[in-house]
Order: sequence, then structure tokens, then C-alpha cells
Amino acid sequence: MRAAGFLITALLLQTSSSSSSSSSSSSSEQRYHLTSTFVLLFPALITVSAGLQFGQLCSGNPTNTIRGSDIKGSGHYGAPRTGGGKHKGVDIECADGSDVYAPTDLKITNAARPYVDVNKNAAINKGLNITAGDICFKLWYIRPVKTYGTVQKGEKIGTMLPMQSVFPGITSHVHVEMCDKSDPTSTIDFLNTEDTQDKGWLHWDFGLDYSRHFEAPSRLCRMWAGSLVASG
Ligand code: ZN
Repeated sequence: MRAAGFLITALLLQTSSSSSSSSSSSSSEQRYHLTSTFVLLFPALITVSAGLQFGQLCSGNPTNTIRGSDIKGSGHYGAPRTGGGKHKGVDIECADGSDVYAPTDLKITNAARPYVDVNKNAAINKGLNITAGDICFKLWYIRPVKTYGTVQKGEKIGTMLPMQSVFPGITSHVHVEMCDKSDPTSTIDFLNTEDTQDKGWLHWDFGLDYSRHFEAPSRLCRMWAGSLVASG
């Protein structure tokens, strides 16, 4: 569904850019062109935005930066691990002792444990099982505020445990894993632009706060609009 949306968007962008380059249009014509194309794009944007948008997960990491490469490996899904395994989640950077926030409205179903053996890496062997609508995921290496109940987006749900005491030199992080172990990035949009970027022309064009739902596509449109202005 997401892929289909991108395809439609790409098709429309292709059509519009080829027609605009063939004529020497004035800036007002370009403006009209921009607006009409955006109206055409609108249904495609709804499709593209399917999925779960994460707000800020950890204090000190407003954009949900994913752990890069360090002495223990890297934080993307599928990254190799010692012993031949592959990483089954996505790691969001989070310094030890940081506050961990609900990245969306969610329901905590129960406590989670990264390691089956209670005594293994005991200092960080805690987490939460969570649902958000029909999406089910886990957050690991946090000391929970509570282990059951509904929580509003932005509310503190835990504290980052002392990962450095267990894995010195690693990039401390919260591990996000889907309950079905699929790639979290195919369900969750981690890039939190809500609080960190201006919502720009999407606001005054429509006079409504659509940007909560259209953050990624609006970035795409702004990039495209920027290149149109530059080429015109
Ligand atoms: Zn991980």
C-alpha cells in the first residue's frame, strides 16, 4: 500500500516536472501548477502515510536517531550479531538514565524481558510489551514506570537502564522489536519531525494541522517544490 502510494506520487511528479520544463511559465503559473499538483497528490499522500508515526522516544534524542556502528555492531534491522545471529529490531539511541517517553498513544500489556535467564545482564534485563491499535511491539532495556495500562503520547514510561555497565563502549539504546519480529521500519516511521521541524506551507495552504499525518510526504513535496523553484 505504501509502495503503491510512492508509485503514484512519483508518476505525478514525473508528469508535472516534464510539463513545467517544456514551457517558460511565469511564477504565478508555477504557483498555480504547484497548488493543482498538490491537490492531485492528496489521495496519494493518504496512502503513503499508512503506518505508525513515532514521536520522541528518548530524552536527548528528539529525532529518534538510530544507533550507528559501534564495538558491538549496529542498530538497524538485520545487522549481524556475534554468533551468526541477526538483529531482530531497531535500536534508538538513548543515554543511560534518560527518560523514555511513549512515542504514541499506547497500551502497556505487560513487562518484557530481553533475556530469558533473569540473571543474565540483570542490570538491563527489563522492558515493556506494548500495543498501539493493532500494532504490537516491545521496548527493551528500560525500567518501566508501570507495566500495565494506557498511556498518552509523550508521557514518561520508563528510564534507560545502565547499559554501559553491561556493555562498556556500546551506544546505549532502546531496542524496538515488533512482536512478529518483522522489520519495524516497514510499520513504524521513526523520523520524528513533529517537534523539530517547521510545518511550513502545508499549514497555510490548508489552514489545518494535516502535518501530523503527512510529515514524510510533506518533506517530499517541499523538496520537490524547492527544486521546482530553483529550476524555474
Ligand atoms: Zn537491538
